[in-house]
Amino acid sequence: MQPLSNRAKILAKKPMTLAERAYLPAIFQGLSITMRHFFSKKATIRYPEETRPFSPIFRGLHVLKRDEQGRERCTACGLCAVACPAEAITMVAGERKKGEEGLYREEKYAVSYEVNMLRCIFCGLCEEACPKAAVYLQADKMAPPRFERDEFIYGKDRLVEPVSPDARSQRGIQLTPEQAEVLRNKMAQQPA
Ligand code: SF4
Ligand code: SF4
Repeated sequence: MQPLSNRAKILAKKPMTLAERAYLPAIFQGLSITMRHFFSKKATIRYPEETRPFSPIFRGLHVLKRDEQGRERCTACGLCAVACPAEAITMVAGERKKGEEGLYREEKYAVSYEVNMLRCIFCGLCEEACPKAAVYLQADKMAPPRFERDEFIYGKDRLVEPVSPDARSQRGIQLTPEQAEVLRNKMAQQPA
């Protein structure tokens, strides 16, 4: 048959030596490659104990922001949930009661607000859709690894920006002892 190019190489079919038949050259070649990689710089890290530096444009774990007086900004309008391509956000709206003006900025607020971190693709569209500057994706924090799927459903207890009752009183927000107690309990439950 006519060769397609002149690069064809004719190999001499010589009999294998005893060492070749015992795979010795191949074993030593494999071991040398293993040892070379063993002493070279590792491409992997021991996550989660070690983390790599975040990119300046990294979008990580969500946070529900408070205003300058420590009140929750979110008004449960639902725009973030509508904008979310992964349908990762759910919420239940409620009406602010008399005496809760120091807790919620608007008359309507999110009684519950959940983000499913297993669905989320961290695109940031919820952040862009929010008219109240209430939801942000943090640039230096991501959802830590967990063993149970339920633990990736982040509720308000883990999403709302923490603020101490003392900081609130410095900002002129008067809390009833019950409200201060609720806040202290929430802060105690915040993961470190
Ligand atoms: S970052 Fe994107 S996927 Fe995640 S909750 Fe926001 S809109 Fe949805
Ligand atoms: S986070 Fe923003 S967009 Fe989402 S419900 Fe609250 S106020 Fe509306």
